[in-house]
Amino acid sequence: MAETPLPLEVRNLRKRFGSNEVLKGLSLQAHQGDVITLIGASGSGKSTFLRCMNLLEQPNEGDILVHGEEIRFKETRHGREPADWKQVERIRAKLSMVFQGFNLWAHMTLLENVIEAPIHVLKKPRKEAIEQGRALLDRVGLLERADYYPAQMSGGQQQRGAIARALAMEPEVMLFDEPTSALDPELVGDVLKVMRDLAKEGRTMVVVTHEMAFARDVSSQVIYLHQGVVEEAGPPADVLDNPRSERLKQFLAPKH
Ligand code: ADP
Ligand code: MG
Repeated sequence: MAETPLPLEVRNLRKRFGSNEVLKGLSLQAHQGDVITLIGASGSGKSTFLRCMNLLEQPNEGDILVHGEEIRFKETRHGREPADWKQVERIRAKLSMVFQGFNLWAHMTLLENVIEAPIHVLKKPRKEAIEQGRALLDRVGLLERADYYPAQMSGGQQQRGAIARALAMEPEVMLFDEPTSALDPELVGDVLKVMRDLAKEGRTMVVVTHEMAFARDVSSQVIYLHQGVVEEAGPPADVLDNPRSERLKQFLAPKH
């Protein structure tokens, strides 16, 4: 029986900046509907790992497969590079990323932000893209903000808008890099609510977060990174509630 390809698989990924190896052989397997959360101290390599997955950074070693399609690399004088940037573009369209902040284009309204890539990358007819865009804005609770510019919205609204824009690409996997870290505390809940809904719907997601309650509730797997190595990984009931490593126990201990 043929196996369904995984939405995302990473094998033995390594990344160096100069002589500083920041990712030391990381692997990850996301099945359909998995929510994988990456936790770890600042500087442990979480963002770099996420950025390598969609080739915003070039991994020095390792394999990345998106829905079974392996990204092809070639060796050049400057090191390893994707062999085919068209392939990278195609893969990126399947892995939508939401960053900490400054996600939306400032010179476009919210709706324009959401329909831009569907029209220009997916080649959707404008009318269809608008219809879909409005439906997505409705889902994240922002339909009445469709014609606002980012500067006219709160940080939390902008992040929900960024999620709607990412969804408009109909991605295979959503990547989130600390999407609530830059928000005022009272705005965090609405963004997490949208992400919880996506998880419930069966979206495949990889999420870098410091929101432990969120990680505990929605993760199928939690990965704790320390200096570019997976120190501990597993279901939240193990990793978050019964950590084995001393370092992870320290990391999870309430700060005062
Ligand atoms: P995290 O997201 O867990 O805080 P990062 O992935 O941002 O960690 O960083 C991991 C390590 O890689 C850090 O030591 C950081 O200084 C280094 N690093 C990240 N990006 C670059 C870069 N573009 N050039 C050089 N070093 C980098
Ligand atoms: Mg980071």
